[in-house]
Amino acid sequence: MVRRVGILGGTFDPVHIGHLRGALEVAELFALDEVRLVPSARPPHRERPQVSADDRLAMVRCAVEGVPPLTVDDRELHRERPSYTIDTLESLRSELAADDQLFLVLGWDAFCGLPSWHRWEELLLHCHLLVLQRPDADVEAPDALRNLLAARSVSDPQALCGPGGQIAFVWQTPLEISATQLRERLAQGRSIRFLVPDAVLAYIQAHGLYPASP
Ligand code: ATP
Repeated sequence: MVRRVGILGGTFDPVHIGHLRGALEVAELFALDEVRLVPSARPPHRERPQVSADDRLAMVRCAVEGVPPLTVDDRELHRERPSYTIDTLESLRSELAADDQLFLVLGWDAFCGLPSWHRWEELLLHCHLLVLQRPDADVEAPDALRNLLAARSVSDPQALCGPGGQIAFVWQTPLEISATQLRERLAQGRSIRFLVPDAVLAYIQAHGLYPASP
């Protein structure tokens, strides 16, 4: 049996319903056996996360608890060097059969930033890319991605075949929400209820994360 595994990497500072709906909708659409949420330890492209890796991991664990096929993969948190997606893909690939399908799920914003990723041109050797359309994203793909899109994108996502190498675009239920907005709300002492699962909110409150600014 060919396994179909999705991966959604992120800082998850904190995890929210935009991430979770994206993961779940992709899982349904592509009949994935599993979608792994992979928290990054030291994201190469951005500022230090506001809360620790342990807390971000714990929040993702709370969020996916009892929600198959969503799972958590903490391999990036055990690495000394920055969290490069290519390393994660190579390590996952070494655990899968050669014809198993791997789907890297990215929001549109993350996809547009691809040309700055470490060894980005090798990503498609290991997986397909599923790009989530995100309502708050800028529209145009950067020039550096034009050739790749022309060569690798498929118009019918269901036509993706083989272990990897193609790009498909997926419309998820639009949720104009980002972790940045949530951190801002919390800093202002406002509620983020219903924007994150209740279990995540309870974890934030119990551990005094993201305190309101004085
Ligand atoms: P921040 O605001 O801190 O940058 P974020 O909400 O964008 O965080 P990340 O952890 O950086 O979350 O994102 C992980 C992945 O999830 C990225 O590929 C991102 O594009 C995608 N993503 C985040 N929010 C949404 C959303 N509302 N809808 C679709 N995809 C999303």
